[in-house]
Amino acid sequence: MSLVLQSAPQRSPHERSLLTILRDGGPTSRTGLSEITGLSPTTISKVVAGLVAEGLVTESVVGVKGVGRPAVTLTPVDSAVTVLGVQIGAGTVTVGIGDAGYAVRHTESFTFDVGAPADAVCDLAARALEKLVAAHDGAPVIGIGVGLPGPVDRDRRRLKISVRLGWRDVPIADELERRLGLPVVADHNVRTMALAEARHGHKDVGDVAYLYVRTGVGLGIAVRGQAFYGGSGGESYLGHTRVVEDGELCSCGSRGCLDTVVSEPAVREALGRLGDTGAAPGREEVLARLHDLARSGSRDAVAYEDTYVNVLAGALSGVVNLFTPDLVLLGGILATAPPQIVTSLRERTRDRIFPLLRDDLRVEQADPGDAALVRAATATALETLHFA
Ligand SMILES: [Zn+2]
Repeated sequence: MSLVLQSAPQRSPHERSLLTILRDGGPTSRTGLSEITGLSPTTISKVVAGLVAEGLVTESVVGVKGVGRPAVTLTPVDSAVTVLGVQIGAGTVTVGIGDAGYAVRHTESFTFDVGAPADAVCDLAARALEKLVAAHDGAPVIGIGVGLPGPVDRDRRRLKISVRLGWRDVPIADELERRLGLPVVADHNVRTMALAEARHGHKDVGDVAYLYVRTGVGLGIAVRGQAFYGGSGGESYLGHTRVVEDGELCSCGSRGCLDTVVSEPAVREALGRLGDTGAAPGREEVLARLHDLARSGSRDAVAYEDTYVNVLAGALSGVVNLFTPDLVLLGGILATAPPQIVTSLRERTRDRIFPLLRDDLRVEQADPGDAALVRAATATALETLHFA
């Protein structure tokens, strides 16, 4: 890989802070920006002049107050920024192009063999991004956001581990920067999803818990529109909460973890046990298949579906009582679960949380599309490279 893409200039802290105010507060005058930031009018004018010259902000006259000068407000130009997104999952990579308004223009996804080395997957992702950028004649690229299926280091440059992919301590940001010459910000995939929903999909809310169930159970939290990081790299290990005493052995070495009951592999195994004879369902249909079996009169299927919803509601109620999000989004195999399962999960979660929280809590299915995945990855790059 030799093609190094040309990157946009790096934003100064003052520029980022003004761009963030304009994103969150809408069109604002220079005086308004000066009042909000505490920066002098001279400094604001200088910074704004730079942003206008780069096309990142436009001026518009919104009316004349009395005999004074016309009021001029500044509006961000979202399309003046190009940001790339990459989501690496268990055997799939989704790449795409977005802008500063969280719009996603092109996406492309491809599969790879689980067990392939990280290096080879970085090569594929870099090549796909180069192709997308070559075909895109938009604004300069500010950088790349990468969502990863495992915990990252505090600097958000390395994937610590992905048991499913067999990767350990992968310097993913260095690898992609070396290949593409653009700044890279990496983060845990479900945290990028929570952030993007708080910033874009549900920005009326701000406090979002994103529960993502696939090969395991991932949790991402956004508080007041900011991604929540805990200690030790900030990962949630909700999936490794014990829900069955002496249950199945989990990949973590413990027994009876939430993962062993509700993950996609656990549902597939249960379908086999329950005598499902149909062709293996796609990822989008595993829970629908379970629900069909339960509806067809299989008592064991009814019991498993009941346990499935109960243990998830139990785990989710802990998350809600702890973080009090306004919105819980259900992603992965839950994003396409049949409405009956979602309704039960919503009701049983409400049953288990503190009464004061019950009326306001929303539990909804997340957008399962590729654009949402790419948007999530771009959001983490925008947050670090463009906004404050
Ligand atoms: Zn476990």
